[in-house]
Amino acid sequence: MSGSGGRSTGRGGAGYAANSYRTHALVLRTYKLGEADRIIVLLTPGHGQIRAVAKGVRRTTSKFGATLEPFMLSRLQLVHGRNLDIITQAESVTPYGQWIAQDYDAYSAASAMVETAERLTVSDIAEVSENGGGVEAPSQYRLLHGALAALARGTHAPRLLLYSYLLRSLATAGWAASFTTCSRCGAPGPHRSVNVTLGGSVCDDCRPPGSATPDPATVELLAALQSGRWEVADAAPDQASREAAGIVSGYLQFHLERHLKSLSVMDQSP
Ligand SMILES: [Zn+2]
Repeated sequence: MSGSGGRSTGRGGAGYAANSYRTHALVLRTYKLGEADRIIVLLTPGHGQIRAVAKGVRRTTSKFGATLEPFMLSRLQLVHGRNLDIITQAESVTPYGQWIAQDYDAYSAASAMVETAERLTVSDIAEVSENGGGVEAPSQYRLLHGALAALARGTHAPRLLLYSYLLRSLATAGWAASFTTCSRCGAPGPHRSVNVTLGGSVCDDCRPPGSATPDPATVELLAALQSGRWEVADAAPDQASREAAGIVSGYLQFHLERHLKSLSVMDQSP
């Protein structure tokens, strides 16, 4: 045992023990690595986004089983590696992935959710320390956890859960849309026009040329999705849901400056 205490982790122990940590994690995405390994992209409550290696996970005999598949909530033990951390233990907490995979619409919605979560939390990869990552990480984790749980339970239409999640995760990232007051001058609405580059609804005085004029039911739906008024959202007509999809997608793309593959799939579904 080394008494020199070269590490200042403050967690006691030496070597392996001092270098390991435990966390709950939602699996966002996986990549193949080498012959049998994968890189697992995770969102955690206290460490933000983590990319970690799961060794041997693609072998049928892997001890990890399905715990590291997308949308799963697992409890992990990891050790710090030179570049990426390494997952040494994984147990399933709630198998959201197994439930979501049984429904195509839920699966598509969950795919767009985790893709967005990955983008919105990516900035704190490098800086994440033992004492917590980015400020938004716990909120983004809670939002995604809630959304995946609702998809798995089938409490609302998957597409509405997706739009609500996107609006709320963007708001958490600092890009809150407004579908009640005017985004520019704050005049109370509802207003006829929507302009995603200005942040949502705009009054007739602020409305730039080229702003959209969606059906009033669509604006009401968007406001309901953002504030979680599900009794309003669930009762919205299909036409409003379709029109809301385009506005949420436009708003997301404006802020992420990149087209989301999974979201464009949702746009095209009937
Ligand atoms: Zn205005």
